[in-house]
Amino acid sequence: MSLQNKLSALVKQKKAQGLFRQREIMNGPQGINITIDNRQYLSFCSNDYLGLANDTDLIEALKQASDKFGLGSGAAHLITGHSQLHHDLEQALAAHVQRESAVIFSTGYMANLGLLTSLCQKGDVILGDKLNHASLVDGSLFSDADFKRYHHNNMDHLELNLKKHSEKNCFVVTDGVFSMDGDIANMQSIMQLANENDATVIVDDAHGLGVLGEKGGGICELFGLKENNSPIIMGTLGKAVGVFGAFIAGSKDLIDYLIQTARPYVYTTAMPSCLAAASLVSLDKIHKENWRRDHLQELILEFKTRCQSLGLELLESNTPIQPIILGDEATALKWSERLREKGLLVKAIRPPTVPKGTARLRVTLSAAHSQQDIRQLTQALGELV
Ligand SMILES: *Cc1c(COP(=O)(O)O)cnc(C)c1O
Repeated sequence: MSLQNKLSALVKQKKAQGLFRQREIMNGPQGINITIDNRQYLSFCSNDYLGLANDTDLIEALKQASDKFGLGSGAAHLITGHSQLHHDLEQALAAHVQRESAVIFSTGYMANLGLLTSLCQKGDVILGDKLNHASLVDGSLFSDADFKRYHHNNMDHLELNLKKHSEKNCFVVTDGVFSMDGDIANMQSIMQLANENDATVIVDDAHGLGVLGEKGGGICELFGLKENNSPIIMGTLGKAVGVFGAFIAGSKDLIDYLIQTARPYVYTTAMPSCLAAASLVSLDKIHKENWRRDHLQELILEFKTRCQSLGLELLESNTPIQPIILGDEATALKWSERLREKGLLVKAIRPPTVPKGTARLRVTLSAAHSQQDIRQLTQALGELV
């Protein structure tokens, strides 16, 4: 069979399975009100949890920085791509998550790949939560270490694995907030088990940064995990921060080591400086504007209460990620389509992103939503039950 025929058969198969994915073409900024094909929707599917992705202060910072620093960074960080703004952002990020040092990556996917492939070496063991994000899974697979998975948030299974590999150098790798379920890693127990067994913990806080903790410091602030015995943190700038990029934070030696060795850091162009400038302003707002987190928590509570009274099956989540489990792909797609007809955008998430039989609507809430938006969504959901 020619490659063309093979590809066309594979595409056809995806379509037949209801697994064919298409991109929406957005005509305007990210936000709770978005326009697709000239139609307005109330959206519940972005990771812009604090409503900062289209914030005028961030955009102003970007404009001013691009006047001064231009657009393209033109080179990798280790050549001539590293500007004062990148440097300032790294320091602000380290302070925000209370770590000694931080290094920026161009995306979270690259940060996880770089961290795991640099740090975890032949003879080491990576113990990863079964529901870890794909970038953590890929980083674990691409590293030279042995990769084992433990049952989701199951501390007995983690302990069993730590004991089994006690003679090896172990890394425990977990999402802070699980991206498709919205639940939070049991960090207290993970840290305790890791300390007892001399293992290093890596936490991916893509969905926790800005959202969790009184000042938005993320999962480590929530659990009070400071410098000593603390996990290595990966965070992203494209979700609650509202911009683009990612970082890793930890000890100075860790960060210096990554700058030397992480290939997705060394061999890629630095993110434009003006994006770093926008992230700096965003971090400041995240730190100061508690109302965003407070309002978001009120919306989460309102949504959960209303869904419970409708008898909808939610997961154990107190974060802005609120999945409604529907089971099979067809039902999830049908519900998503019905909501869409009413001007409400909620994406169906299907295998392989989630395990088979757990297709779902993934509702994500944002501080930009109002109580009225939640009522509108839950009312429409009520008509589908
Ligand atoms: C989004 C996400 C990433 C990837 O970050 P990008 O900056 O979008 O590449 C990594 N880990 C988790 C848990 C994520 O949700």
